[in-house]
Amino acid sequence: MTEETAAGFEPGHRPPEAQNELATWCAFRAGKVLVMRVSGRLQLPALRPEDLGSAARTRHYIGMVDGVPCYAAALHDAQDLPAGTDLIFLRNLILDSDELTSGIAGRAFQILEWERTHRYCGACGEPTTAHQADRAQECKSCRQLYYPRIAPVVMALVTRGREVLLTRKPGYAPGRYTVVAGFVEAGETLEHALVREVREEVGVESHCARYFGSQPWPFPNSLVMAFSLEYASGTVEADGVELEDARWFDIDALPELPEPVHISRRLIDDTVARLRAAQLSSGA
Ligand SMILES: [Zn+2]
Repeated sequence: MTEETAAGFEPGHRPPEAQNELATWCAFRAGKVLVMRVSGRLQLPALRPEDLGSAARTRHYIGMVDGVPCYAAALHDAQDLPAGTDLIFLRNLILDSDELTSGIAGRAFQILEWERTHRYCGACGEPTTAHQADRAQECKSCRQLYYPRIAPVVMALVTRGREVLLTRKPGYAPGRYTVVAGFVEAGETLEHALVREVREEVGVESHCARYFGSQPWPFPNSLVMAFSLEYASGTVEADGVELEDARWFDIDALPELPEPVHISRRLIDDTVARLRAAQLSSGA
């Protein structure tokens, strides 16, 4: 379901030779991203490096957006914002903008966070520098390389006949339910992680994982991989700590669900449509 790369964006890490041209900037300060509102829509601003002052000198090239170079940069605390721009939380931009804009901003944020947390070598303690050819930080002293970190997360929607298993965490929006999700552990396959997460969170056994799609989620560096699974055995029981509730819902009596920007919602919608089609074709 998810596109290979958002249309209009060509990722890259070697910047073009011309460094002073108008470019698209993903500039961040304390988790907020610099935006402009154009005809009511949130956009990443087109600026010249001088508009961003010294922040532009530590830029990272992200790629080309519709033929225009795009950079990530960290704004200094005291720096004035360019005219017509504003800072908003990245999460709000992702909820409010198109897939191209939110994908580029998320990518830029992850790269800046990775650089911020890899300034020194974890093996020998020396400062790192940007690698010549790759998107990596390199320790010149012990030759250790640090690539941007990505944390794999599995997401599972378990089905049973015409029912789906949904859960809610304490503090989640009132009445809203979603799927089971958790981090993949070292040494685990995705299939094992799915079955383990479902068992740990809701106490049932599941099998027959069916891949749906993936979504980068830059808070701070997750890659969510979504699957549906079939129920095998056991009784649903929320652990009461991580989950406040877990239960089966008939596909015609679903609770409030996550917003469509989340892959969890698209996984639920797709699976429900598939179960409904199966019901119709079986004449039930
Ligand atoms: Zn080192």
